[in-house]
This record gives sequence, structure tokens and C-alpha cells, in this order.
Amino acid sequence: MNEAVRPVVAVVGSINMDFVVESPLFPLPGQTVLGKSISYFPGGKGANQAVAAARLGADVRMIGAVGGDEFGGKLEAVLRKEGIDTRGVRVTDGATGIASILVSGGENTIVVVPGANGALRPEDVHGNAGLIEAADIVLVQLEIPFETVEAALRLAKTAGKKTVLNPAPAGVFPDEWLQWTDIVTPNETELAALVGAERLDDPAVLESAMRKLHDRGAERIIVTLGANGAVLSARNGEIVRVPGRKVEVVDTTGAGDTFHGALAAAWAGGASLAEALQTAVDASALSVTRQGAQTGMPAAAELERWRR
Ligand code: ADP
Repeated sequence: MNEAVRPVVAVVGSINMDFVVESPLFPLPGQTVLGKSISYFPGGKGANQAVAAARLGADVRMIGAVGGDEFGGKLEAVLRKEGIDTRGVRVTDGATGIASILVSGGENTIVVVPGANGALRPEDVHGNAGLIEAADIVLVQLEIPFETVEAALRLAKTAGKKTVLNPAPAGVFPDEWLQWTDIVTPNETELAALVGAERLDDPAVLESAMRKLHDRGAERIIVTLGANGAVLSARNGEIVRVPGRKVEVVDTTGAGDTFHGALAAAWAGGASLAEALQTAVDASALSVTRQGAQTGMPAAAELERWRR
């Protein structure tokens, strides 16, 4: 990627602090147990995808919200340290978004409190129109209010930008949004929720689910398939499959976020969509060989070395 003309990616999305508590067991209602450890990890799909894109060389502008508490300041500092432009990050009077993750015996339970993410308004998008207008690609997810996602997609498309809608974690969104979306990128669970299917493990079922989404207006769809890589489907029937890379899995947290940041950075940088898809599959495969979401995300030079 040429440093002189860095691709610009605007991310409109969530910024969270993840608390991970390790416990010998899951407490029952009314029970208190002694935990083993607590760790704090910067997270939120928006922030994670912004970091992944920045590490791979994109000039990233973040539009989001944090609380006025100590976590908000820390999370903003994390983004700035990655070289991300945080002028679009508003500090609210409330609390920073958190995910409280209880881990025991390889399973987990999660409570997400959206906090400031839930206070991100369409006005925040309009107030930062300059950041979107300066971008090559605008990337959104579903961890902020629906009306804010809609405002971002509409404004981006009106300004002639490429748009990527990652319908995570809920999967479901109004079909109307597809008119402002260049690529919609569910994982298998999200695609199943979107088309009302039980499961998509059969390739024929996957294809018919993608066809349904095209019929509802999706121009291009990328479905991430975990260890099996990803598939791109265009409305004209063109399909590009990229198999997963065989790797030693350490931690798959944030695999999808690495995928999205990499896809946006590569596509904004002038790669064809098929090339960007390969970069996204490679970057996310490398990330699962390492611990943590943001900590596992590769830098451009590292990814280049690994791909050789
Ligand atoms: P999410 O994290 O949103 O559930 P996926 O599980 O589909 O999304 O993972 C996103 C991408 O990460 C995949 O398309 C794939 O490229 C990569 N990936 C995930 N799990 C593995 C794995 N076990 N081995 C190799 N690559 C993986």
C-alpha cells in the first residue's frame, strides 16, 4: 500500500471496554463465588474494526461515543495510539459501553451494557459529515442505534462512498437499507437470522439464503464462514469463494472484526473485491493464531511476511 495515498476508512460504530472475569464456576442467582482473575480489553465492533483497518495502513476516522468516565478516556487514547482520527468520538455524560464476560470451563456468559454507544445519534453522523465525505469507504455494524446506522449509510451513499454493512451481532435490519449498501457481510448465524433459516451448513442452503438476500435488494453479499473462509456473491450470479487458511487456533475473538477492517482497508486501497476478500481471510486467519481481539490484529508488514 502506497503511504502517500493512504485509503481513508470511516467507521461509525461502537466503542466498548470488555471486562473478562475468570471464575471456577458460574454463580447461581444469590450465590457469590471467588473469581480467578479480571482483565480489561478495549473492544466494541466499531473500535475493533477501526483498529484492524488502521494496522493494515488505512487512514481511519472513527465516529462513535464514549462516556465521561475513566474508561472513555482510556479507549479514546487506545484509538489515537493506533493513529485513528477520534474527532468524531463524542464524550457523553453517561457511562462508557461495556461487555462483562464471565468465563468458566471454556464457556462464557456475556452482559453488554451499550452505555454511550446507545446515545450515538443521527445528529452525530450529520455533525461529522466531513469525516464521511473525506472517506473512500464507510463501515458500519449494529452495536449502535438503528437510526444512527441508517443515517450513516444514507449520508455515505448520498456522498458517493462505498459502504459496507456488517449486520453484527443481531443479523436483522430493514431491507430498505440495502439500497444504500454496497456489501452486506453477515456471518453464518447472522445470515440464518436474516433469512429465517435454521442452519446453513449445507452449501446449497447457503446459496439459496444468499439468493433470498439478493432478491430483497442486496447487490453484493460476503458471508464469513469461520474456519472455512468466506464467500462473495454478486446479484449477477458471480461467486468468489476463498477457503480458510489452515492455522493453529489460539483465540477466535475478534476474527470477524479483523476480517472487516482488512476488507475495508484493502478495498479502499484500490484492490479488487476478490483481492480484498483474500486479504481479509488471510488477516483474520493470522489473528486467530494469537490471543485477544485487538492484540491479535496484524500490521501490514507482518501480514505480508506471513502470506509469502
Ligand atoms: P465472526 O468472528 O463474526 O463469528 P467468523 O467466525 O466467520 O466471524 O470468522 C471471520 C473470519 O475469520 C473467517 O472468514 C475466516 O477468514 C477467519 N477465521 C475464523 N475462524 C478461523 C479458523 N478457525 N481458522 C482460520 N480462519 C478463521
